[in-house]
Amino acid sequence: MKKKVYVKSYGCQMNAYDAERMADVLAPEGFIETNSAEDADLIVLNTCHIREKAAEKVYSELGRLRVMKDERTAAEGRAPTIVVAGCVAQAEGGEILRRAPAVDLVVGPQSYHNLPALLAKAKRERVVDTEFPVEDKFDHLPAPSPQKIRARGVSAFLTIQEGCDKFCTFCVVPYTRGAEISRPAAKILAEAERLAAAGVREFTVIGQNVNAYHGEGPDGRTWSLGRLLHRLADVPGIARLRYTTSHPRDMDDDLIAAHRDLQALMPYLHLPVQSGSDRILAGMNRRHTRDDYRRIIDRTRAARPDIALSSDFIVGFPGETDADFEDTLRLVRETGFASAFSFKYSPRPGTPAAEMVEQVPEDVKSARLAALQDALEEDRQKFNRAAVGRTFDVLVERKGRHAGQMAGKSPYLQAVQFDDGEVAIGDIVAVEITETGPNSLFGRRAGQAGASGTIVRAVGANAA
Ligand code: SAM
Ligand code: SF4
Repeated sequence: MKKKVYVKSYGCQMNAYDAERMADVLAPEGFIETNSAEDADLIVLNTCHIREKAAEKVYSELGRLRVMKDERTAAEGRAPTIVVAGCVAQAEGGEILRRAPAVDLVVGPQSYHNLPALLAKAKRERVVDTEFPVEDKFDHLPAPSPQKIRARGVSAFLTIQEGCDKFCTFCVVPYTRGAEISRPAAKILAEAERLAAAGVREFTVIGQNVNAYHGEGPDGRTWSLGRLLHRLADVPGIARLRYTTSHPRDMDDDLIAAHRDLQALMPYLHLPVQSGSDRILAGMNRRHTRDDYRRIIDRTRAARPDIALSSDFIVGFPGETDADFEDTLRLVRETGFASAFSFKYSPRPGTPAAEMVEQVPEDVKSARLAALQDALEEDRQKFNRAAVGRTFDVLVERKGRHAGQMAGKSPYLQAVQFDDGEVAIGDIVAVEITETGPNSLFGRRAGQAGASGTIVRAVGANAA
């Protein structure tokens, strides 16, 4: 009989990718995926530890699951197995078993390929596995079926790099995800070809520090991200490439040139800056200045003039003064971001910044976050309003809410809705933008000709 697994993923794209891989590991064990915890035999919380709130959410969810587990044991005589995976699992390990009695298994991000064996063991005793094993987990992950790939959509994440050696003083990633490693290019390309053959049209290659990629190429040399993107653009069927998340220090010449040379590389760059103050950037151990960041943006814009920018910001890092915060606002005004993520600094146990004496009071952090988000939202809306009257190539991802409506993404990751019953999921069509909403753009098919000329179905090579 088929068993059901419910995987709930928190946090970044790396976790979204890992959640799918966990489902793939469990499929040969007879597990099918369900969207509801209530009818699942196995519940996996794939957790995030980046900010305190993210970790606390997991403990409150575990409190709810404990009640459900007790109720189902009373009503059905059996209860679901509960697994905590991801970065909270890695950081807290056995502490989770102490705080959350409903949990049967705690498994870190580097060990989930061992899930079947760990689940068998968890039938006898509660288990914690937060090792960093020597074998490459990617070698042990079964490939999903073409049907499953198709069901997951035409836009796919592809992990090329994991871990981080940068040690920004606020960040837990180097501790929870370990040292930086890059997958060999041949293995990435084999996965890319399998995904594209099943109908994937867009890859977002991901890594905690994706542009630090330095994997072994099939020629025995070390490949940069720029080099890898060129090869990925040649995978038949692939029309669009993106990459995230990058560090300013790793924006090398190859990568900037790829923005100039590869039509498939979308004109959208997520490049976290965190702060506009050199003093704070030094305290964060970012190892770049505000001017370094501006110069990288200038070079990237010179290579690809239509590029749009996105970033991450932290406000209220220890020691941040009003003047430092003003520097951040000034950077925002000078740069113009199409979108951005912004957070209040959250002290993470075990990181150097958590021990710094000049912690910023919560009310000051809140006021700065509100001011920053107002400035960023103004820019986002300005960027979206500027789309009205323009024609974009839209990758069709799904049906819209209403009959005949389709939904997809612009090159700038904007959600676009338009009416047309004839196009298919996976097509790239020219859409003239007629209106903007709070979170989407609306438009109409731009006849036979438009930004892309016609509907584009499964084209291969993309080098301009
Ligand atoms: N590797 C990326 C980089 O170098 O910027 C970021 C990875 S992190 C998963 C995503 C974002 O979370 C960071 O860019 C930062 O803005 C935010 N972040 C990380 N640690 C944080 C903390 N302790 N408090 C608040 N925000 C944090
Ligand atoms: Fe964290 Fe990114 Fe800094 Fe690495 S580079 S420590 S992942 S913020």
